[in-house]
Amino acid sequence: MKQNHLILLLLSMLLIFALMHCTSPSEQATLSVDTKQCSGCTNCFPVCEADAIRIIANKAVIDLSKCVKCGKCVEVCPENAIY
Ligand code: SF4
Ligand code: SF4
Repeated sequence: MKQNHLILLLLSMLLIFALMHCTSPSEQATLSVDTKQCSGCTNCFPVCEADAIRIIANKAVIDLSKCVKCGKCVEVCPENAIY
C-alpha cells in the first residue's frame, strides 16, 4: 500500500515538473534572433503574418511589439537562429 502511495507521489511530481517546463514557442515570453546563427536566408520573413520580421543588414530582426508568438518563424529557420 505504501509503495502505491510513493508511486502516485512520484508520478504527480513528474506531471508538475512537465507542466512547468514544457512550453511551446507561442507560450514563451519573447523571441530572440541569434545574429551569429542567422544566415539572412529570409525564410522567416514571408511566414510572419504579423509583419513583425524585417531583414536588416542580412539579419532577421523581430519587432516584439508586433510579434504574436505564433512560432512559425522558429519552424522554418534552417539555422535554428530564432528561439
Ligand atoms: S513568432 Fe510568429 S508573429 Fe512572431 S515573429 Fe515569428 S512568425 Fe512573426
Ligand atoms: S529563417 Fe533563420 S536564418 Fe533565415 S533569416 Fe530568418 S532567422 Fe535568419
